[in-house]
Amino acid sequence: MSDPRTFVVVGAGQAGRWLVTTLRAEGFTGRIVWFGDERHRPYERPPLSKAVLEGQASLAQLALIDDERFTALDVDWRPDTSVGAIDRAQRQVVTARGEVQAYDTLFLATGGRARTLPGLATHARVATLRTWEDALALKAGIGSARQVLVLGGGWIGLEVAASARRLGREVTVLEGAPRLCARTVPPYVSEHLLALHQRHGTQVQLLAAVAAVAPHADGVAVTLGDGRRFDGDLLVVGIGLVPNDALAAAAGLPCDNGVLTDALGRTPDPAVFAVGDVANALRTGGQRLRLESWENAQRQAVGAARAALGLPHDPDAEGPGWFWSDQYGDNLQVLGLPEPGHRVVERRVEAKGQRLFFFCEGGRVRALAAVNAGREVKIVRKWMLQQRFPAIEALPDPQTDLNKLPLAAAPDPIQGA
Ligand code: FAD
Repeated sequence: MSDPRTFVVVGAGQAGRWLVTTLRAEGFTGRIVWFGDERHRPYERPPLSKAVLEGQASLAQLALIDDERFTALDVDWRPDTSVGAIDRAQRQVVTARGEVQAYDTLFLATGGRARTLPGLATHARVATLRTWEDALALKAGIGSARQVLVLGGGWIGLEVAASARRLGREVTVLEGAPRLCARTVPPYVSEHLLALHQRHGTQVQLLAAVAAVAPHADGVAVTLGDGRRFDGDLLVVGIGLVPNDALAAAAGLPCDNGVLTDALGRTPDPAVFAVGDVANALRTGGQRLRLESWENAQRQAVGAARAALGLPHDPDAEGPGWFWSDQYGDNLQVLGLPEPGHRVVERRVEAKGQRLFFFCEGGRVRALAAVNAGREVKIVRKWMLQQRFPAIEALPDPQTDLNKLPLAAAPDPIQGA
């Protein structure tokens, strides 16, 4: 017999996809109404700054759910439909077109939008990147550019820079901080990224305090506080993401840099969950984090869907956290959350172009940043989940196979044994 409840999902990205597929996989037979304000079915965003810009991926290839599976999910799919308001007292959402939809449980998976420069959001010479349409416009812009300026040396900015460079463009990255990706990785990784970009001929200006951006018919000029001026045909703005939490805030849900949730996406309203890039989640140990990563969106969505169905908490639901980036054919992966107090142990395997930075505390590996070492990342993830680690002193030796090192239990004092 079908469950009488209606679950409403707002947002059709990575988190929305995992909400819907998990609800069905876990046996929910009720109605699922799924709103997405883009015209497309959910698609992968990570290739937008990589394969799509380089002309190697179509929208169909990015589909997060294939046609057959989508039909089998049996959802009431509402593409191109923005949800404009939540009425929590009545347990209903109202779309921007005024349609009303009741819910028993509501999942907010509204992600975020690219931060823009005031007044320049729609200029033809100034681009941001979040959607398929953004990627197509940027691809065309790079195609006709000679010099590309990238404002922001974070992940999106650096991936766009690498793609544009691979397409043969002159590229200059302007970053205000003293190092690249300063918000998300420690200095060792920033230094690696800087060397990588410089090796491929990308100009990187650190401590670049932008004083003025002046787009014109033929290009764009960026002037720094110290008077230096950079001219390009196109400016790509990669200065971060603004979480789409206004809908939740207007409904009285607590928000602060995203919707405030627990580790399973629960808000103070038991009928409302929030997951993915829009969720600022409380982690074990009391730390609040709003992560912007593909795996986090998946993990939180799976945890929230299971929690909404009353299924037991999966201890893996929080996980160590993982993201990757591809630049110039190099693959960088970060596992866990490196912190300034961690002891850094480096392992280099020159023959494979591998570099691994282990971030250690006591006898544990707390985090890992790894270049071209996908297999090793999986091994370390296993250690972290099992809380069993090898001797830290054995890690740097390139002759050892990490998988063959003897392990000893080293329970995490924060998470408990
Ligand atoms: P989103 O993917 O943003 O989906 C939210 C959806 O909700 C959007 O379609 C949005 O339009 C819609 N929406 C918003 N408000 C409403 C509303 N009111 N009504 C209806 N619909 C609404 N992560 C990695 O780990 N590795 C990478 O290499 C990587 N590369 C990336 C490259 C690019 C160019 C981008 C943009 C992101 C990348 N990411 C990467 C990040 C990753 O894609 C995101 O963390 C992930 O997409 C977050 O999923 P989400 O579902 O929370 O949000």
